[in-house]
Amino acid sequence: MSTDLDLGNRKGSPYTSTEIRACFLDYFASKGHLKVPSSSLIPRNDPTVLLTTAGMQQMIPYFLGRETPPAPRLTSAQKCFRTTDIDKVGNERTLTFFEMLGNFSVGDYFKREAIAYAWEFLTRVLELPGERLHPTVHPEDDEAPRYWSEIAGFPDEAIVRLEDNWWGPPGTSGPCGPDSEIYFDRGAQHGCGRADCKPGCECERYLEIWNLVFMQFYQDLDGRRTPLPRKNIDTGLGLERLSMVLQGKESVFDTDIFRAIIDRFAELAHTTYGYNPKNDTSLRVIADHGRALVFLAADGVLPSNEGRGYIFRRLLRRAVRHGKLLGLDKPFLSEAADTVINLMKDHYVELALQRDRIVEILSLEEKKFNSTLNAGLYLLNNLIQDLQRDGQHVIPGEDAFKLYDTHGFPLELTQEVAAEHGLIVDVPGFEQAMQRQQERSRATATFTQGQDEQALAELLKRVGPTEFTGYQGITDSSRVVGLIVDGVEVESVGASLVGALPQKALLVLDITPFYPESGGQIGDQGDITGPMGVFKVQDTRRPLKGLIVHYGYISEGHMRVGDSVQASVIEQRREDTMRNHSATHLLHKALRDLLGPQTEQRGSLVEPERLRFDFTCPRPLTPSELAQLDEQINRWIRADFPVHTNIMPLEQALTTGAMALFGEKYDEMVRVVSMGSSTELCGGTHCSATGQIGIYITIQETSIAAGIRRIEALTGRAAEAYLRRRSTTVDTLAARLQTQPDMLESRVEQLVQDLAAARRLIAQFQRDAVRQQAERLAQRSQNVEGVLVVATTVDVPDEKILRELGDMVRARLSPSGVVVLASTFGDRVGVQVNVDPALTRRGLHAGKIANAVGARLGGKGGGRPESAQGGGKNKAELGAALDLVAGFVRENIR
Ligand code: ATP
Ligand code: MG
Repeated sequence: MSTDLDLGNRKGSPYTSTEIRACFLDYFASKGHLKVPSSSLIPRNDPTVLLTTAGMQQMIPYFLGRETPPAPRLTSAQKCFRTTDIDKVGNERTLTFFEMLGNFSVGDYFKREAIAYAWEFLTRVLELPGERLHPTVHPEDDEAPRYWSEIAGFPDEAIVRLEDNWWGPPGTSGPCGPDSEIYFDRGAQHGCGRADCKPGCECERYLEIWNLVFMQFYQDLDGRRTPLPRKNIDTGLGLERLSMVLQGKESVFDTDIFRAIIDRFAELAHTTYGYNPKNDTSLRVIADHGRALVFLAADGVLPSNEGRGYIFRRLLRRAVRHGKLLGLDKPFLSEAADTVINLMKDHYVELALQRDRIVEILSLEEKKFNSTLNAGLYLLNNLIQDLQRDGQHVIPGEDAFKLYDTHGFPLELTQEVAAEHGLIVDVPGFEQAMQRQQERSRATATFTQGQDEQALAELLKRVGPTEFTGYQGITDSSRVVGLIVDGVEVESVGASLVGALPQKALLVLDITPFYPESGGQIGDQGDITGPMGVFKVQDTRRPLKGLIVHYGYISEGHMRVGDSVQASVIEQRREDTMRNHSATHLLHKALRDLLGPQTEQRGSLVEPERLRFDFTCPRPLTPSELAQLDEQINRWIRADFPVHTNIMPLEQALTTGAMALFGEKYDEMVRVVSMGSSTELCGGTHCSATGQIGIYITIQETSIAAGIRRIEALTGRAAEAYLRRRSTTVDTLAARLQTQPDMLESRVEQLVQDLAAARRLIAQFQRDAVRQQAERLAQRSQNVEGVLVVATTVDVPDEKILRELGDMVRARLSPSGVVVLASTFGDRVGVQVNVDPALTRRGLHAGKIANAVGARLGGKGGGRPESAQGGGKNKAELGAALDLVAGFVRENIR
């Protein structure tokens, strides 16, 4: 089904979501905005929010003046997640995960330009009809309505004042200000029909698409507001909603962003989207949640019982239950993850890079929940039946907690199932039960950082610095000299009880081969095995100079201070990391050789899976430069240069030309790592010769800020796996297209052409068919008082064609036709009314006919005198509704 927007008039405007996103960013770049990539869903340095909810999240330090932005004008497409919207998912417009397009001004332009840009973008670039757009403002903001009048010609009374149009930190201090929301009118047929229905109304008629926030005040703790010296602009335009409007769809789920995902789930569930409203809601929920879970996993959120991890869990479990409603018994989220990744991977490369990890996380968690879901649902349903038999309406908190604790039922899920049976859950009772359990086992304690630091400082004073032996090997015999739990030094730690969360602890040895995170290289993981137990090292860090700390938990038995232990780093992980670290040095050198000595390192990340290197460069590298880099690095790898390390005075190191990091503070004695022509100050662990790197591949080169580029690359096993995957893809595609890999390009080219030709042919046939149908309908007109009337049902695929057909029949009856065509779309009947202009002058009005017919169908209708639309759901009345037309003509014709 389509909305009233006639897309035929928007030649050359973007249509797919990919085009729309690019068009937005390009438009604002053309207005001097720097494109910045989406930040992670996990907000950086902001412990007050769990997940990124808006494009402005990464701009907060700039708005507060704490950091200098890379440019005063910025634009982005930001990944967002809103927990508050979880329960609304299933309607036409609300998602948990969505993309927000935004333009930002940090003390640069303000209201007038923000409004002018928004208006130009919507009406000129996207060619949306201005009369369908409605700005709203805050009642106390006098400037915004003035600009809306001046720039877009809205009369003052057409600008709706909404109390809600205020953005600010609720209950705390910070920048704030009025905002202006732009709504799209989807047409009266979506409305509630109330006389005071206008933008901001709860019904589906007006869709909020864009919010322009004018940050102009600072609010102190007493609620007093003072004007900000530098005013900011923050805007958010929902990509999915905008796509819905531009693609003329009934919901965000019908856009190109979701259709493939929905269809994939529908296929797995052996059903079809659009036939059964209850199934459709479940399909929408799992499509939204599935997509959100993929993105959460890609950004490093893992299922757990608190914080972000709990949101992940809650979402997954909610999706699994809706899957169950659809009859999906096997794991389906991990099955459909590929579809999501393929749809989105071009813009969000992290998805493709982590495909295997994402699928694994989803399928593990899904399996885990599936195994307890049936048992839990069975118990819950029994409980509900018992309560209902006794005339009770409240599920006791203790029971809800038991479901949560032993069957992994999130409280919200229990509430949802309860609500379906008209029951509620005693939430305070649930919380009390939870608290009692927490008091019983203090197992959920997390790292208490400040206390840890103090305890560590005292420990360091007593036992002295840790000796690091990880350059020579990855295992060593050693002794436990300190154990810290919840910020307190303890004598021993034991494993947690079965089922409880592991007891986190900090462990310090006198000698350790575990490399503590530094210089971009991440910390080692592994086991520390003592006479009575095993400590699992999840991370190694150096929180204080000289002190290496192992972070982890006891997995078996227990461990005491003084125990003699065997410390062993996970070999493969360390080796993969070393390959990436040595390759980072070669990359640094190759970049300077290629681009010149002004090229400086600005940061790096060395992990087992990949390496990342940030450097100064004012422009993107060309494909040929990227190829040269890879070739040079691989030449150096094949040359198998030995890697030498030397300790020497800083002075001497610098005079021999070792590369040092700008702005980094070094000790007097430094470690110098050299391989081939590369010499760098570095404390990291490396291969013994470059040949061990195996192979190097750059997989991505991007901009991270003005003048700073980022290269991501793979080496060794990861590079090999990457190449194998690529090659399998090519083989599979070639087989599927019945050709040889070498012929793939020409084969695809040919197919693309064939497809275009076939599409043209189909369109041609469709037009012919509509024309013939119009001909037949025109011949069957009925003469009512000299007016040729056609009122009948037809069968067409969508409302756009229905409209075209109505127009054609009317043209064939000219100058005296009234045409009313009805067609079934899903559960409703759509009606198209056309009246010849010659007859509108004689008292016939298409809008009134549409309204009368729509009302008979249990709905409504309206529109212009010559052309109008209506509809309703009462299919049984269709014959009677069409019969009204002749009488209507007879009564009203003058
Ligand atoms: P609504 O009231 O419609 O949920 P909002 O007022 O919460 O929207 P803003 O915080 O102003 O929205 O966000 C800016 C834009 O982001 C909105 O105009 C909309 O296009 C989009 N948006 C916000 N929330 C969602 C969501 N849950 N799903 C899809 N798009 C959203
Ligand atoms: Mg809003």
